[in-house]
Amino acid sequence: MADTVNNQINFVDMHVAYFCMEIGLAAEIPTYAGGLGVLSGDMLRSSADMELPMIGLTLLYKKGYFKQTLDGSGNQIEAEMVWNPADYLELLPTRVSVTVESRPVIIQVWLHRLMGVTGHINPVIFLDTDVPENSIWDRDITQILYGGDAKYRLAQEIVLGIGGVRVLQELGCGKIQKYHMNEGHSALLVLELFRYFAAQGHGNPSRAVHNHCVFTTHTPVASSMDQFEQSFAETMIGRQIPAQLRSEIFVDGVLNMTRLGLEFSAFLNGVAKKHSEISRQMFPGYRIESITNGIHSSFWAAEPFKKLFDHYLPGWAADPYSIRYVLSIPGQEIWEAHQEAKAALIAQVNKEYGQEMDLDTFTLGFARRATAYKRGDLLFSDPQRLKRIAKNCRGLQIIYAGKAHPQDFAGKELIKKIIENMHLVAPEIKVVYLADYDMKLASLLVAGVDLWLNTPVRPQEASGTSGMKAAINGVPHFSVLDGWWIEGHIENVTGWSIGPMPDKVSERAADIDVEDIEDMYSKLEYVILPHFYEQRDEWIKTMRHSIAVNGSFFNTHRMVQQYVLNAYFQ
Ligand SMILES: *Cc1c(COP(=O)(O)O)cnc(C)c1O
Repeated sequence: MADTVNNQINFVDMHVAYFCMEIGLAAEIPTYAGGLGVLSGDMLRSSADMELPMIGLTLLYKKGYFKQTLDGSGNQIEAEMVWNPADYLELLPTRVSVTVESRPVIIQVWLHRLMGVTGHINPVIFLDTDVPENSIWDRDITQILYGGDAKYRLAQEIVLGIGGVRVLQELGCGKIQKYHMNEGHSALLVLELFRYFAAQGHGNPSRAVHNHCVFTTHTPVASSMDQFEQSFAETMIGRQIPAQLRSEIFVDGVLNMTRLGLEFSAFLNGVAKKHSEISRQMFPGYRIESITNGIHSSFWAAEPFKKLFDHYLPGWAADPYSIRYVLSIPGQEIWEAHQEAKAALIAQVNKEYGQEMDLDTFTLGFARRATAYKRGDLLFSDPQRLKRIAKNCRGLQIIYAGKAHPQDFAGKELIKKIIENMHLVAPEIKVVYLADYDMKLASLLVAGVDLWLNTPVRPQEASGTSGMKAAINGVPHFSVLDGWWIEGHIENVTGWSIGPMPDKVSERAADIDVEDIEDMYSKLEYVILPHFYEQRDEWIKTMRHSIAVNGSFFNTHRMVQQYVLNAYFQ
């Protein structure tokens, strides 16, 4: 496979180009907002480990997503991130230009060398319009992730999709077999590929585009998909729209980026079995397969677990399947590794938030994007009952984190509500909301709590990945049966479900909440807390099974292999 010569990247040998609006390579490179970006980073990490010649493309957000602080009443305060791209990336001499609203916009290119476990290096490219030749507005296009209005978003998508393909050509990536659109934001790349194949004299350029594209959808919610009104899109994209394709690009006067990706790709998938099923209902007529998400095992395993795995399962990082052998590791050592990870979290929380949490109290973790469907406040539906549970069961502490998108006002209300409830359950239950959830905080949290909670409204959690990060660290999952958890849940063995089985969900929204709340409280009180405090050996078995059953499967090594077999080398 492609290798590096004198630290030079062999662009010409790249086989797959992986496009995503956000890529999370490290907490210090704030070019991601949440699950989608972290997944892309994990996917690229695994590809580098496996020496799959894959080049990643995204935008360089000089002001990041945003930095979150919280005031005493739980109001979210947003500030720009400050970072210096030159500390992590190298500016290449390559430049291309795209057209936005009939103006040329120049794009410069930054390179990150992503090294895998064997020393193999794959390139990740960050596109940047902040060059003096561009107007002020155009220089701003790549500054903020998910900022601005529809015009700003579409300008970004022109840079990513059309600009990205031009950058690949400039870099000499002449053997790309598959262009993988990870979510709809990059779907304009099909327009540029069409022009390219047409210019090459290809008899059926549409067919050629189709053969070269892979599309992954990440949301089951129609309103979360980027859609642009036709005349606006035509003004923005202009002559970069091939005339022959207009009727395929615009349906009912709308450019829907998900539909565009689906229409022009030979392989389509959702990110969990349930999500693919929902996607097929939303987009009848497309054959949408399923490749369930994963996480990068060695990136997300906390230090104490890495040491434990290194000792008992040498080579596990390159071969996460071997993690199933955790079943042979003595329970006491798993418990000790967990206590070490928990101590690190508790120490940080106590130091930075003036808390007095302790190591022996059962600790529940909930960290996600603060948005209505995730129901972050479900746990506080009945604060008095929660207090009683804590009192009857020897104690409970809760750690929250998560940002709300600056325009998500319902999400911001959720944070306020959680913080108001903290005071209602004090002092019996200690609760803290940690500010500025990012990959670094996520690492600490997923390994440091005793149980990882998730309460989405079905079927809106396309997959979810933080529960997989918890699993590799022996932290069982307690969640509504949606997304990946439908596939990873074995009651009492890998964690616990909340609410009914997927095929028995009530029709009425109000009933759904009531069923979920009742089940959540009663399981906490009668199953989970007694399990933790009174049957520690049984609890440790659940921890061990979380690692062996789910850690060994829900990882990006397996995921990359499925993409290779089903999508990339077809
Ligand atoms: C893993 C991760 C997510 C995604 O978690 P979900 O389970 O999809 O909610 C979001 N943000 C950060 C910082 C993460 O590390």
